[in-house]
Amino acid sequence: SWQLMISVVLVGTIMGSFVYLFHTLLKQNKLDTLRKAFVNNLTHELRTPVTTVSVALQALEGSVGNMRERDSYHSIAREELNHLSSMIDKVLQIAEDDLLIDRQLACKEYDMVALIHKCVANAQLSGMQNGVNIVFKPSIESEMIFGDPDHMKNVIGNLMENAIKYGSTEVNVFLDGKKDSRYLSLSIQDNGIGISSAYHLQVFEPFFRVPQGNLYPVKGFGLGLAYVRQIVRQHGGDIKVKSVLNEGSTFILTIPKNMKR
Ligand code: ADP
Repeated sequence: SWQLMISVVLVGTIMGSFVYLFHTLLKQNKLDTLRKAFVNNLTHELRTPVTTVSVALQALEGSVGNMRERDSYHSIAREELNHLSSMIDKVLQIAEDDLLIDRQLACKEYDMVALIHKCVANAQLSGMQNGVNIVFKPSIESEMIFGDPDHMKNVIGNLMENAIKYGSTEVNVFLDGKKDSRYLSLSIQDNGIGISSAYHLQVFEPFFRVPQGNLYPVKGFGLGLAYVRQIVRQHGGDIKVKSVLNEGSTFILTIPKNMKR
């Protein structure tokens, strides 16, 4: 029946989003041991209402005619969906709070040019499948800076993945480290779908995704850029976007060569 179809699609979407959210969080080293345990429990907690809903809906399908029986299955399904929905709200709140807590940085001296080459090589792997070319031709051979290379790798990786995800065919990476400046300027330029100027600030907010009508063709949870900005700011730098709809976007990072120790 159509009710069953809608519920299955709904539950599928919710579960898919959760898996994606936790995958993202995990990838970005946001989960300590405690949180991993929490996720395990949560998976269990979520499965129960999902099972109940699908059993109730199956019963609903089978129960032709008997109105009282149908009403009861219907309200079970409804109740469990409400329960599921309130759990989802809680998890989203936790994820949002988590994003606002300062991350532990493990800082050391590292070569930014070498790090970008690594990120380009990684992104090129997924870029190749989508016919995307990533170009990085630094004018300097190396640029030693002080900061957290692991988080910075995630930052650059996130921006490259976005460029690939949002319709680019060519991504250009520019690094400018003027000798007399205390800052590095790193730009990731794409020729993808672009972002209307109305959203240039909002894209950095947790969970914000540029509205694209009812169906969003690109998977995501709107957390990548919030993470990126947080890490860059924790380094004492900042990020902004310059973008024209249907032409492309450039994310420009300003990073101190020597963050305050
Ligand atoms: P996600 O990609 O998971 O949705 P992000 O926080 O990385 O989350 O990005 C937030 C939103 O900003 C995206 O949903 C998308 O609408 C927009 N966006 C980010 N990067 C780009 C890009 N390179 N080109 C076009 N739009 C982008």
